[in-house]
Amino acid sequence: MKIAILGGGIAGCALAFVLKNAGVTPVVYEASDALASGASGNPYGLYNPRFTAERNPQSDFYISAYAMALRTFAAFSDIGWRPSGALHLINDEKKERRFSQTIENWGWDEAHMRLVGVKEASEIAGVPLGYGALHLPQSGSVCLKKLAAAYMDGVDYHLNAPVEDYEALEADAVILACGPEALKFFPDMPLGKVRGQITQVASTEQSEKLRCHLCYGGYMMPADAGVHVLGSTFQRWLDHSQVLEQDDAENLQKLAVNVPGLEKGLTVVDHRAAVRVTSRDHFPMVGRLPGKDNIYVSTAHGSHGIVSSIMAAHLLADMILDRPACLGADTIAALSPARFI
Ligand SMILES: Cc1cc2nc3c(=O)[nH]c(=O)nc-3n(C[C@H](O)[C@H](O)[C@H](O)COP(=O)(O)OP(=O)(O)OC[C@H]3O[C@@H](n4cnc5c(N)ncnc54)[C@H](O)[C@@H]3O)c2cc1C
Repeated sequence: MKIAILGGGIAGCALAFVLKNAGVTPVVYEASDALASGASGNPYGLYNPRFTAERNPQSDFYISAYAMALRTFAAFSDIGWRPSGALHLINDEKKERRFSQTIENWGWDEAHMRLVGVKEASEIAGVPLGYGALHLPQSGSVCLKKLAAAYMDGVDYHLNAPVEDYEALEADAVILACGPEALKFFPDMPLGKVRGQITQVASTEQSEKLRCHLCYGGYMMPADAGVHVLGSTFQRWLDHSQVLEQDDAENLQKLAVNVPGLEKGLTVVDHRAAVRVTSRDHFPMVGRLPGKDNIYVSTAHGSHGIVSSIMAAHLLADMILDRPACLGADTIAALSPARFI
């Protein structure tokens, strides 16, 4: 079987990895001159499940996706994997309620997710914090370009190869993993673009003490070679990838508000902007396109693309190869593009 994949971001590369391991032949067509050059081109991305108060088809997807990502990363040796944990700060009342419900309804073992008070959160972080947190000790960050390269090891791909007419490709099935460009082929898909920017800052003596990832609406990663990644802005009203100075200021300001003092002396050394894709219900769009026999889609990975793209790849491989599905029927229906018809 030959499967054509449009898009060499992490969604397309994860698909190629899973399909190759299943014994079929994926071929990736990437419009630009490099893999992981769109939304997937950030130096590091944070991976964690998307938290919901309830256990529902959506949470089941992210729970499975997080577990799948952890075991996938463990099998690679050079992806810049830093599983040093993440503290999701409880910086408002809503989060306090929601995280307690998450703990209760998800039923995870304490070794994988638990609430910690201010003192313990500060000890885990290595820097003083003003809030307690939801702590996920296995969460962390990964280098997206390296992850894409690892996924693509041994896979045939074409760069500078924008596909205009996917029906002309010689393949048994086609998968659209081309981010917002899926709209070009199916303009009625309810997808939206959300621009965002990350900021890289040179560390200070104090910020070097940070030992785990902090999430507070924005996020800060521990320093790597003297540089922290701060993320990220969200602008539904913009869809360009030019960097904006005011976004760096916003990322620093979010840190200053949530971990006062840690921002002192941090200087901007680099930045990157890109466009994410979300669907109308903020859940990925993964499955067979209605009315099309062998055309599939994996997009709308929003701000959790690292974990959702690898789970989406396993689900699509099951569908294409007619294997028992790795996700429940409710979750598959919640992901399907048919949900919007
Ligand atoms: C600022 C910012 C911070 C983020 N932080 C995180 C984070 O910390 N953790 C996390 O999990 N996620 C994060 N995300 C989201 C994550 O990056 C995305 O969900 C993920 O990269 C989406 O991957 P993708 O492969 O679907 O899209 P993309 O990476 O955009 O890939 C789509 C590819 O398709 C190609 N393409 C388009 N049209 C065609 C065509 N016709 N033919 C061939 N190729 C085509 C494009 O060139 C592109 O390379 C962040 C996003 C942004 C913008």
